[in-house]
Amino acid sequence: MALRRLLRLIELEPRPEEPRTDWGLKLALDDYTAGMANQPPVSQQSDSRSPAPAYGLVRDGVILEARNLTKRYRLGTRDVDALRGVSLQVRRGEFVALMGPSGSGKSTLLQLLGGLDRPTSGEVVLDGEVVSHLSDAGATRLRREKTGFVFQFFNLIPLLDVYENVALPYTIAGVDPRHGDAAARIREVLELVDLQGRERNRPDQLSAGEQQRVALARALVAKPAILLADEPTGNLDYATGGEILDELWHSCDAFGQTIVLVTHDARAAAHADRVLVVGDGKIRDEIDLGRRSANRDAGPLIARLAQLGL
Ligand code: ADP
Repeated sequence: MALRRLLRLIELEPRPEEPRTDWGLKLALDDYTAGMANQPPVSQQSDSRSPAPAYGLVRDGVILEARNLTKRYRLGTRDVDALRGVSLQVRRGEFVALMGPSGSGKSTLLQLLGGLDRPTSGEVVLDGEVVSHLSDAGATRLRREKTGFVFQFFNLIPLLDVYENVALPYTIAGVDPRHGDAAARIREVLELVDLQGRERNRPDQLSAGEQQRVALARALVAKPAILLADEPTGNLDYATGGEILDELWHSCDAFGQTIVLVTHDARAAAHADRVLVVGDGKIRDEIDLGRRSANRDAGPLIARLAQLGL
């Protein structure tokens, strides 16, 4: 499959009317472009933007940290303050949910945490690297090496089969995904999301839930430092959404995968260890749920959220 043909294909997809970025599409484009450009290793890259500020050692066990993040968008002649000073820490192996009403700043926060966008002020440190001050090329490299993303829309490449879609991170990195450790890892994640035997199917031969499981497998295949999921069940029916959430939780519980999940659904958030309630661009509350046992009842979380007016 010629990469250039794929690129053209992605570019032909309709663009949204509004100026907001389709991050799924941008991710795919950036990763292909970066792969084609054959970037040098980090040590040889010069980041032309402002140098990363001196930053103390990330506290032991903390894999992701945000410090006083703000994000101001310009919308025509108007400024929109999407984030107004957010600080948080996520520990290695933790499952954190970001909840809050529509427009409260959850997606913006997730994008900054994953290096998809830069804050207006403040810092994001992921696995010891200051994400928020990287150049575009540096941010693309960091995303490829340290993050996995799952979005509401699955962003699979239609002409690639299940195996090839899941193998993309290896293919982009120039690793043959049909042999050795890569092939073993791909088989492992396909088993995790229960898609063995579907390797040769293309996305249009799969149900919505199966497509999201492919996207989840692709996000997990390179064992990212952090998995970022933005409303991953938003396009799925209740039962199928539940299966995806169970798989997310299982990847955390059984394999120590660190997860940050954006959701407006208390049932989804009930899978997390900790819920951060976002409101009007700030963290308004924190609800410590502890590690979920199978089939935790979302009732107490829903009651607590109701107390908070959500
Ligand atoms: P949520 O994910 O909680 O629904 P968002 O982070 O998407 O919230 O949006 C927070 C605020 O920022 C909203 O007022 C939204 O309209 C605004 N916003 C988000 N992205 C952009 C953008 N690219 N340009 C202008 N305003 C934006």
